[in-house]
Amino acid sequence: MRSHKLLMIPGPIEFDPAVLAALGAPTTSHMDANFIEAFGASLEMMREVFFAPHGQPFILAGSGTLGMDAVAANLVEAGDTVLLINTGFFSERFGEILKRYGADLMELKSPIGGRPSLDEIESALQQRKTKLLVITHVDTSTGVLTDVRSVAELAHRYGALIVVDGVCSVAAEELRMEEWGLDVVLTASQKAIGVPPGLALWVVGSHALEQFKKRKSPVLNYYSDWNNWLPVMQSHEERKPNYFCTPAVNLVWALHVSLKQILAEGMEARFQRHLALSKTFKAAVQAWELDQVPLKEEYAAHTLTAMRYPAGVQGGALLSEVAKRGIVISGGLHPEIKSEYFRVGHMGTTTIGDVMATISAIEQGLIQCGYPIQPGVGLAAAQAAQLSLR
Ligand code: PMP
Repeated sequence: MRSHKLLMIPGPIEFDPAVLAALGAPTTSHMDANFIEAFGASLEMMREVFFAPHGQPFILAGSGTLGMDAVAANLVEAGDTVLLINTGFFSERFGEILKRYGADLMELKSPIGGRPSLDEIESALQQRKTKLLVITHVDTSTGVLTDVRSVAELAHRYGALIVVDGVCSVAAEELRMEEWGLDVVLTASQKAIGVPPGLALWVVGSHALEQFKKRKSPVLNYYSDWNNWLPVMQSHEERKPNYFCTPAVNLVWALHVSLKQILAEGMEARFQRHLALSKTFKAAVQAWELDQVPLKEEYAAHTLTAMRYPAGVQGGALLSEVAKRGIVISGGLHPEIKSEYFRVGHMGTTTIGDVMATISAIEQGLIQCGYPIQPGVGLAAAQAAQLSLR
């Protein structure tokens, strides 16, 4: 019997054995030529995963929030106008971080599960000269996917840089940094990148780097000051050691393995696989007649599904029935609806078999909790969706 439960939350996810083996290997010196090679190659592979052949990648020890904090610390100076597209808990957090560094924040927020329209975004951009537009690609608290490509086009028309929180999207949702004109994209290791928590990753485009170089005031965060890190990243790509802070050596080794796996699958195939996993899972949700948190189908992310409990089903009871069947899923996170919904992640190493097992466990859990559905109804819908995708 497998000793661990299948982790189907929206990050951290299940990790590949080869990635985990890299974490358990003897730690090398961070100055070791082999390590410098793995670090440099990982930076190069990040460019391919982010579709940013000319971007400057960064790999730092820390979680996704460090990436948000670093981007705000390096690109915001006191009084800068920043437009935040707020689609949930993580956008909200980005707003708090931006304000810490003195941003004059304009915020566009829609009802939970919605997203501000392009017209609303354009009229906000018309109101004030905006330096940065900040958007969450997939807000993991609501499962809302934003139309980053169209928003980027607008941002550029009004001369704003666009920063994308891609923590729950990079390496799973379609995202093409240079083609779409994105100035900064950040992510973390523990979701579709497929490495246990502990690395913050981001890529900075040339316009954002120019803006950074024009700063008049010092960066108010010593650890994440890009002046400290740029020489480190550049040296590693030249395969030369350069120390600022000790890197998370084993996590970088694990990242090297995972990025190779991601590129071996191929980015286009990966985007398609995530669409298929999502369609399959959501077919079951529809068959169970559960409402999704995103208000429209096109607002729903493909890396996770956020759905409401049916009337009469207690969240804690459902999650524990699912856990009894060997699968861990997540409760709600958005403070306003926390007890009303649950979330299932389907990204990275997730297979169709994992999705079917999860559907089966949730279906049994719903029935055990008194929800009147026929056993198999979700599974049948998911199988029909699978067959139609072939
Ligand atoms: N942004 C998004 C969209 C996230 O999903 C998360 C984490 N779930 C974060 C930011 C913060 O990342 P971390 O928890 O790694 O700091």
